[in-house]
Amino acid sequence: MLRVAVIGSGPSGCYTAQSLVQQDPRVRVDVLDRLPCPYGLVRYGVAPDHEKIKSLQNTLRTVLEHERVRFLGGVPVGPGGVPVARLRELYHAVVYCVGAATDRRLGIPGEDLPGSWSATEFVSWYSAHPDSPGLSAPPPLPASPERGNRPEREGTPAGGGFLRGVRSAVVIGVGNVAVDVTRMLARGATELSPTDMPHAALTALAASEVTDIHMVGRRGPSQARFTTKELRELGTLPDTAVAADPAELALDPGYTDPSALPAAQRRNVEVLRGWAGAPVPGARRLIRLRFFLRPAELLARGGRVGAVRFERTVPDGRGGVAGTGRFEDVEAQLVLRSVGYRGVPLEGLPFDAAAGTVPHLGGRVLREGAVAPGEYVAGWIKRGPTGVIGTNRPCAKETVSSLLQDAPDLVGREVPGDPLAVLRAEGIDPVEWTGWQAIERAEAELGASLGRAVVKLPDWESLWAAARSGGA
Ligand code: NAP
Repeated sequence: MLRVAVIGSGPSGCYTAQSLVQQDPRVRVDVLDRLPCPYGLVRYGVAPDHEKIKSLQNTLRTVLEHERVRFLGGVPVGPGGVPVARLRELYHAVVYCVGAATDRRLGIPGEDLPGSWSATEFVSWYSAHPDSPGLSAPPPLPASPERGNRPEREGTPAGGGFLRGVRSAVVIGVGNVAVDVTRMLARGATELSPTDMPHAALTALAASEVTDIHMVGRRGPSQARFTTKELRELGTLPDTAVAADPAELALDPGYTDPSALPAAQRRNVEVLRGWAGAPVPGARRLIRLRFFLRPAELLARGGRVGAVRFERTVPDGRGGVAGTGRFEDVEAQLVLRSVGYRGVPLEGLPFDAAAGTVPHLGGRVLREGAVAPGEYVAGWIKRGPTGVIGTNRPCAKETVSSLLQDAPDLVGREVPGDPLAVLRAEGIDPVEWTGWQAIERAEAELGASLGRAVVKLPDWESLWAAARSGGA
């Protein structure tokens, strides 16, 4: 019997576990997660209105319910939890599938002004991640000529205060996360109510008075990272118009002549062409897609963000851009910085700080350039935060084939008969599958009490209480 620990129960962890048990009948897998809930970014990253992608949870569930796979939630690995070195003693092999837990920084003045959030924080808030900061309200807006001395709208729910007084929002970046947060800002109650998003976030978004959302790329439209399906969806939002500036789009040679572009970029450009020009009048909200604007500074107004100063850029002919020294300020009481995720080091594992990944060879962890026996990586911590969920499948397969090649050497080492018994003896009390099922029941009950379908529990306390009521 080969005992393997997979750290992280998101797509890469689940695909790794699946590949292991499918390929070798002698393997038993424990999937550890620091949260009491499985599915990683499928639960806490995929936007709540993307129900089809969310339904992937059903596929991941069959993996975690496999007879040779065990989910052990609420078990942090590293400081305050199970040290990396201890895991190596408990299992023949350990596969780290811990993703990319933080966001990239812009490194510009004003980045941390009240009212400026990373997209990761915003996504965590509307996804009910228990670590979410709750996104508190920035200081009240100062009186402005158009607002007069009108007081702040009352009754804004707790946890959504940061949306109070926001009329114009800037989303920095043009990847799929930027599209997600732009879309969520434009959604109304009718579309959000059937989702599993927490009630406070739903109420705050439904009550928001945002009328203008600027999604801004530093390079051209043919270099944007979003995928066409996601881009096109922006044009289907009720009561929302989408517009792009034809002159700005035309700065991109790939826009004026897309014939040499790869198919995906060509499709993006064609969708954008349909939005070039003045927006169709009459919509309550307007999404403006902007390009060739590089963020230079977030400008304060009354102690919170009031605008973003961008430098106009031009293509440099090599796929990049050059600054022009000309600047443009875009009004924004809310800024969402959506410039990519970043891996964080895990104490006891090597880390390449420049790439934000763990150094590896075919999924085998490298320590000072040499393969570390029994240690593996898969997913974003292996290859960086790129690709769609399905990209994790071949990535996991590569790691598993390395691991199974090494298995004859690994299995000779003596490990405890049942690592769970050892963890318990050491004071760690994991949430097992029955605990997770109790959370699912509590979320269904919460939804029913609110007249909605399933609604996520939004904090550690309620998750633990539900999990423990399940008897594990
Ligand atoms: P991403 O695709 O890497 O996009 C990051 C964006 O930020 C790019 O437009 C990038 O521009 C820009 N950027 C980076 N640094 C910047 C800076 N200093 N100033 C201004 N702009 C900057 O990252 P992501 O959107 O976070 O997505 C991560 C992964 O998750 C992607 O593979 C994505 O496809 C996937 N995802 C998929 C879905 C879906 O399938 N529905 C949903 C969400 C996420 P440059 O190109 O110029 O660097």
